[in-house]
Amino acid sequence: MTRRTLTILGSTGSIGTQTLDVIQRSADDWTIKWLTCNTRVEELADQVRQFRPHGVAIREEWARSRFLELLPEFTGPVLCGEEGLCEAAADTDNDIVMSAMVGFSGVVPTLAAIRSGHVVGLANKETLVSAGGVIMAAARDHGATLLAVDSEHSAILQCLCGEQLADVERFVITASGGPFRALPQDELQHVTVDRALRHPNWSMGRKITIDSATLMNKGFEVMEARWLFDIDVDRIDVVIHPQSIIHSMVEFVDGSVKAQMGLPSMLVPIQYALTYPRHAPLDTPRMNLAEIGTLTFESPDLERFPCLRIAYEALRAEGNSPCIVNAANEIAVSRFLDGHIPFTSIPAIIEKTLSRMNHVDETSLSDILATDAEARRIAADIDA
Ligand code: NAD
Ligand code: MG
Repeated sequence: MTRRTLTILGSTGSIGTQTLDVIQRSADDWTIKWLTCNTRVEELADQVRQFRPHGVAIREEWARSRFLELLPEFTGPVLCGEEGLCEAAADTDNDIVMSAMVGFSGVVPTLAAIRSGHVVGLANKETLVSAGGVIMAAARDHGATLLAVDSEHSAILQCLCGEQLADVERFVITASGGPFRALPQDELQHVTVDRALRHPNWSMGRKITIDSATLMNKGFEVMEARWLFDIDVDRIDVVIHPQSIIHSMVEFVDGSVKAQMGLPSMLVPIQYALTYPRHAPLDTPRMNLAEIGTLTFESPDLERFPCLRIAYEALRAEGNSPCIVNAANEIAVSRFLDGHIPFTSIPAIIEKTLSRMNHVDETSLSDILATDAEARRIAADIDA
């Protein structure tokens, strides 16, 4: 492979560090241009020592000062704020930008990468959830390619190789069901933060781990699939598959179904986005179906996990509804993580926020920024 240049937005997070893990295994193929983070500058300084990027961008000013104290010998640029993140994202030297920030904070920097026409590895699903129409239009206008990093969407991308979208009947997105898959409704009220953070199959950042426990993550993935592959919401189904071996499926118009499988590891979809359309060698544990023995499937329970229903409804309503759901969810999840509200108040806060906001049909970036800010304010004020 010819040497390529990579920038990582959110290099200190779960996806960011696993991206660097993949890079480390094939270091000769890559030049790291920018690494960016919010505040975790100790980790960032370690990454700079190891991967020698051209420069870094740090969201918070105080964290930038701390980074300069930690690494006075670093002579590259140390950018700051959202402008700094956007400058790194838009750098014309980038061949690929890994969008691995969490939440709505990724929208503007990811858009900067897209407007520069780069290949974007998209882990930051909230960007598509909140601003899918704007993002996909910008990708078309600027010739940018969006490659799925989420394991389900990477699975769909792999199933679609050599196929025509016109021949697809539906997507079936698999979900592990999270830590509370089998918990009765009356116990959900009392689950602790620690318990919600213990995902059975995946080790991920805190926010997505809670989204997996409520099934909002799956709702967001339905939205992500709708935008990435331009498919109607009614042709995207979700099935619970607790073993997380099948990462998703595509059913074709003749009833033939392709599934992409493997042991759960984000290294595989991350590397696939980096080497697309090729598969490259990767030293990961291999799947042994005889040892696994049984794969099981069940329908999601929308009574116990209303977030999935809310996400489908918001996607059907279109306009700013998905953006409201995302913003209210971010606030509700952080209130839960801070120990201020019970688990079951997360969907309640989202629904109340939706009912108090005006629906807007057509959304520009400025509408989306305004909707996000207002929905956050409302969601933060709702008694739970
Ligand atoms: P994380 O919390 O571990 O990391 C987030 C990264 O973004 C960190 O580097 C942090 O410094 C940076 N960041 C956070 N807020 C920021 C801000 N305001 N400004 C600038 N930088 C900021 O999150 P994660 O689990 O790596 O998830 C990242 C994204 O990938 C999410 O959208 C998530 O849904 C998606 N995703 C994650 C996984 C996984 O296995 N972790 C799998 C699929 C999709
Ligand atoms: Mg996923």
